[in-house]
Amino acid sequence: MNPQSVTPSEVGPAEEDTISYEAFGEGGCACGAVRYRVRSAPMIVHACHCRLCQKQTGSSNAVNALIEADRIVVLAGTIEETLLETPSGRGQRIARCTSCKVALWSNYLITNQGDHLRFLRVGTLDDPSIMPPDVHIFIESQQPWYMRAPGVAAAEGIYRHKTTWSKDSLNRLKQLTRKTGFPFK
Ligand SMILES: [Zn+2]
Ligand SMILES: [Zn+2]
Repeated sequence: MNPQSVTPSEVGPAEEDTISYEAFGEGGCACGAVRYRVRSAPMIVHACHCRLCQKQTGSSNAVNALIEADRIVVLAGTIEETLLETPSGRGQRIARCTSCKVALWSNYLITNQGDHLRFLRVGTLDDPSIMPPDVHIFIESQQPWYMRAPGVAAAEGIYRHKTTWSKDSLNRLKQLTRKTGFPFK
């Protein structure tokens, strides 16, 4: 798939500024062209150890914070999207800086939430420690030298969100699926 250039205003739904959130954190790409602000804590943070995340990040795992798209505000720069494979086979559209091509977030098509749910790449935050993993997934392919912090949930593959997410996050998800009209997967 050819990268398609889009301006920040075309990525994700329009801002809903009727609700104002404190700035929870800020981040950006490696070259500094793209800067974004996160307006609240995410619903949950995944550390994914699947082979595709290892391949696509060139690392041991991806760290993705699931957050409503309208809680990420692009402050500067332009984004392009590329479609890459995921374990579900449905794929993910990865949003990258048009200059340095670093991935900032993605939309997993399996979730059925379209542009409304983003998987933010936590390492692009100025301070990634504000979004530590809540659950490790696909540990069936976790690298043998990777040390998980004790007490953090882990699943061989995927997990049941209804029993893992906090009550508050499940409420936020309910609001999101009401908006998109499709159940979360
Ligand atoms: Zn960049
Ligand atoms: Zn993965």
